[in-house]
Amino acid sequence: MKLILLGPPGAGKGTQAKEIESKRGLVQLSTGDMLRAAVKSGSPIGSELKAVMDRGELVSDEIVIKIIANRIEQPDCAKGFILDGFPRSLAQASALDKMLADKGTKMDLVVELKVDYNRLVERIVGRYTCANCGEGYHDRFKRPSVRGVCDVCGNQEFTRRADDNAETVTTRMMAYYRDTAPLVGYYYCKGNLRAVDGMAPIADVAKAIDALIEAAG
Ligand code: ADP
Ligand code: AMP
Repeated sequence: MKLILLGPPGAGKGTQAKEIESKRGLVQLSTGDMLRAAVKSGSPIGSELKAVMDRGELVSDEIVIKIIANRIEQPDCAKGFILDGFPRSLAQASALDKMLADKGTKMDLVVELKVDYNRLVERIVGRYTCANCGEGYHDRFKRPSVRGVCDVCGNQEFTRRADDNAETVTTRMMAYYRDTAPLVGYYYCKGNLRAVDGMAPIADVAKAIDALIEAAG
């Protein structure tokens, strides 16, 4: 199963990708996570990437296409994968189609997570993650069951993304509506687009996506 989770920042793509990953053993491919790792590792283009990401703009198509082209060749992707945050432009979508066509395959399903603008901002500014295992939390919507302790690994340190602030959110949303939203039409025309109500509680969204994966076979 090769699946794309499509939706604006804060729609719940990462949260749902992790649910699917643990339930179905499909690997989550988040270009945002990969770019943040490249910045952290001190890669030569790290400071350039960081500046673009901190402004809330999109990194060049060329860079992210190269990252994904290399990543899907890894053995853990053979069974399938979940794309989270890629593609984000028509150029990225057509490059993805081409790389899969060259391997004689294609995306099975594209799930659009629909969430109102105001809720997205609320989700982004309240988001934080475990500094050890990366489990995602929210100040109001998803708190650890024991305050200050990660449910998954027991760690007590958490981080917030540098770009998860009210100022950058506007730029990120604009990038979504300008460059990424056209992909809704692109995948609708290809016939593999389905939508879910991303405003619902996390477990309900997971159930809705699970049903779509079952139906797509
Ligand atoms: P994305 O990967 O699309 O940017 P995330 O999965 O990181 O979004 O979710 C953004 C924030 O919203 C996180 O703090 C997460 O815990 C929270 N969240 C995700 N899905 C829901 C939901 N259905 N209801 C409430 N909060 C949610
Ligand atoms: P995300 O973690 O998906 O919210 O992505 C964080 C930031 O990484 C974005 O605001 C972009 O600057 C960059 N980024 C992630 N994925 C892509 C992509 N597919 N194309 C361009 N930029 C990306």
